[in-house]
Amino acid sequence: MSANAPITQDLITIPRVLPDGPDNLVGMTRAAMRDALIKIGTPEKQAKMRVNQIWQWIYHWGARDFGEMTNLSKDLRAQMAEHFVIALPEVVTRQISDDGTRKYLVKIAGGHEVEVVYIPETDRGTLCISSQVGCTLTCSFCHTGTQTLVRNLTPAEIVGQIMVARDDLGEWPEAGLSTADQGPRLLSNIVLMGMGEPLYNFEAVRDAMLIAMDGEGISLSRRRITLSTSGVVPEIARTAEEIGCMLAVSFHATTDEVRDTLVPINKKWNIATLLEALRAYPKASNSERITFEYVMLKGVNDSDEDARRLVQLIKGIPAKINLIPFNEWPGAPYERSSGNRIKAFSDIVHNAGYSSPVRKPRGEDIMAACGQLKSETERARKSRKEIAADAGL
Ligand code: SAH
Ligand code: SF4
Repeated sequence: MSANAPITQDLITIPRVLPDGPDNLVGMTRAAMRDALIKIGTPEKQAKMRVNQIWQWIYHWGARDFGEMTNLSKDLRAQMAEHFVIALPEVVTRQISDDGTRKYLVKIAGGHEVEVVYIPETDRGTLCISSQVGCTLTCSFCHTGTQTLVRNLTPAEIVGQIMVARDDLGEWPEAGLSTADQGPRLLSNIVLMGMGEPLYNFEAVRDAMLIAMDGEGISLSRRRITLSTSGVVPEIARTAEEIGCMLAVSFHATTDEVRDTLVPINKKWNIATLLEALRAYPKASNSERITFEYVMLKGVNDSDEDARRLVQLIKGIPAKINLIPFNEWPGAPYERSSGNRIKAFSDIVHNAGYSSPVRKPRGEDIMAACGQLKSETERARKSRKEIAADAGL
């Protein structure tokens, strides 16, 4: 795409049922779906097989209509249509950045909005999904943190973000082809790095990720799913046991004094306590390494001494250090470290034997980069308000 290609902002109006009234099959665990089928009269003996069939229709084929489920009897289809819905969040706007990054503003029950970002790369594509509307934590460099939490997302709203992105990318398999036959997947990786602290919404995140990993549906390997936490220590062992995905941690500082101000949850679980939980994670989850996220803030956490302290602290933990140049937002109290500073920091970490890539900001022109995910919601809201005002409404 050319550097000055226009940013598109489409208004998409696909009417979709919001998840109140009939039960939404999206987001149910297999066990819950089985119970729901039995409740509407499916014989217990058949229930497991029916779950398999419905599961494949919804998560492998992307079916949205019970009428499509041709290997189920007409009676069952009619009954399902009476009692259930297949409901996804509604995509309100889609913006496409100069660099191909797509940002979706999706509306969930109650009229709340969350943001979902798709980042295409040459050999893969990553979807950054949200777990909460806003965040209860108040990391001082994060824009999402300035938005008070409205609510936790449900499993349907979390897995629904993946499904609406697949809709937009046209990535449901064609009849007769398996997912593997279709070539490299456009949406091949998931990162829980959007709005919210995933470990403060543990059960919903777990259920949604188990659906995303299920081999009969979306079928993403647990190694292609990365959950990022600010350091909710008591839930880290549970993440290993009950989800088993890759873990990223918002580390960002090498002393408790600095981390207390950047990531205030550090006052509850400090660096030493966090590192202890992280040391146990790779073995417990059978994943190779942990990603340490480290935002580069000019004059705050970016000295050579910080870099050296960092490698000392994480000694013995299989790790990759992801350096994130600070993404600015209106009124932010920090500045991004210079390119030279980031390079010097990265070299020290690299020379100590750790991979230390610098995360390239993506989608900055549409405010889709890490930590910017509040403002566009507000801007979009404002502009819609302005439009209404202009129209004399
Ligand atoms: N709440 C979770 C996940 C969402 S934040 C967490 O904190 O880990 C995803 C990543 O973006 C985190 O590492 C976060 O610290 C980082 N981030 C937040 N604001 C940022 C900003 N303004 N610039 C760069 N990275 C930011
Ligand atoms: Fe919440 Fe993560 Fe932002 Fe901290 S960095 S305020 S935990 S979203």
